[in-house]
Amino acid sequence: MELYFFILAAVIGLVIGSFLNCLIWRLYKDESLSGRSYCPHCRQTIAWYDNIPLLSFILLGGRCRRCQKTISWQYPLVELATAVLFVLTWQLDMTTQNFSLQLLRDWLLIVTLIIIFVYDFRWQLVPMLPLWFMMLVIFLLNLVLGFSWISLLLFGAVGAAFFLIQYIITARRGVGEGDIWLGVFLGLAYPDPKQLFLIMLTAYTLGSIFGLFLIISGKKKWQSRLALGPFLALGAIITLIWGRQIITWYLGF
Ligand SMILES: [Zn+2]
Repeated sequence: MELYFFILAAVIGLVIGSFLNCLIWRLYKDESLSGRSYCPHCRQTIAWYDNIPLLSFILLGGRCRRCQKTISWQYPLVELATAVLFVLTWQLDMTTQNFSLQLLRDWLLIVTLIIIFVYDFRWQLVPMLPLWFMMLVIFLLNLVLGFSWISLLLFGAVGAAFFLIQYIITARRGVGEGDIWLGVFLGLAYPDPKQLFLIMLTAYTLGSIFGLFLIISGKKKWQSRLALGPFLALGAIITLIWGRQIITWYLGF
């Protein structure tokens, strides 16, 4: 029985992931969400049979049917990541009291973090509109899940302050305004000091490793700026799925 639910979660994840790819592109291009998907190179409308998550990318060999330009790896990767993360959170929330509400919140959280990851990675910008909207939604869902509004707002403020201080110290060169809002979002979504600490720790560790790798491979210089958002999103996803295990493991020492 469990297996059927995991397959269901994976299929929903693939479909949502496909939608996220489209959403990210249209947010960037400032286009409306209505209208069929199209190839960004030749603007040909994509037929439904060429728009099946994962499968179409494989069948088309990663190329547009009309213009033969390569389709970005972002498309299958986002679809696959959403599917895997939807299954993992289903498994995680299965035993919780408020299963459907908990799962809804965690899926919305994953969706937001994936949008931030891809958008900030590609264009070094935190997309503010979806972030503000999801901030409100996650805040309301956490209220229904039993968190007090005072603690939520307090952690939101802590998250903001953490980046605001760096913003002032580095004179805007280290972190951007988007990161301050991301701090508010993370505080509202993870109202727990241990989890917030783990997010920051993983984000800065992964960011440093990636930055060092870019410098060694000659793609970046020491002075160049690396967007923090993708690593914060990655840290938040890791904390959501494995945070409890990592923290218990660490406290066991
Ligand atoms: Zn094309």
